[in-house]
Amino acid sequence: MNGPEIQISFAPALALFVAAPRRAGRTAAVTDGVSTLGHVVESLGVPLTEAGELLVDGRPVPTSHVPAAGEQVHVTGVPRPQHVPGAPLRFLLDVHLGTLARRLRLLGVDAAYQSEDIGDPALAAQSARERRVMLSRDRGLLRRRELWAGAYVYSDRPDDQVRDVLERFAPPLAPWTRCTACNGELAEADKDAVRGRLEQGTERTYDVFAQCSACGRVYWRGAHHSRLEAIVDEALREFGGAAA
Ligand SMILES: [Zn+2]
Repeated sequence: MNGPEIQISFAPALALFVAAPRRAGRTAAVTDGVSTLGHVVESLGVPLTEAGELLVDGRPVPTSHVPAAGEQVHVTGVPRPQHVPGAPLRFLLDVHLGTLARRLRLLGVDAAYQSEDIGDPALAAQSARERRVMLSRDRGLLRRRELWAGAYVYSDRPDDQVRDVLERFAPPLAPWTRCTACNGELAEADKDAVRGRLEQGTERTYDVFAQCSACGRVYWRGAHHSRLEAIVDEALREFGGAAA
């Protein structure tokens, strides 16, 4: 490229996306004079889902801004918590985030996920159709224009991933209200109605039952839930919950 030269800097939160020499502060970037600032930022490695404001000489500009020579550009990180306007907060997770999907469901957060890989175009279309925030560690997927909204998942450890999503979006928590297998909503079920689906030991020992309104799976409170209860307790302690 051989066009206008700008000076650009990135918030520390964005350091992992940009090449090492750009992490410390302001550096020069040569643009082509027609590409938008959004495109320039993406081409330097930062998904626009992760950019908060684009500031030119201290003033916010839209991603469609075409940079001119000598402009000083600063890219901020997204505010936390981040407000996603226009729809109830719900998520769509890519094929690599199954554990995160189940944990979000456990906390009552609407988290669509399929264990087979339907491909980036289909995921992006689903995000747009169902107005779901796409969660992924794949920057290519997060660049797709069709997305309703998207967010990069910063860690590959499920414990940290849950904290990242709860801290970033502050979704209302309602533990034990959603099917961890299919994301359907749970309804209370009495023992007689679900008797045929229970194993004998379960039937004798446990009394609190819920059933998924979508797939029919039966849930009960039992000792084997202690690990899940620990996950729920920790999330509620850190992030609260309206229905807790
Ligand atoms: Zn279900």
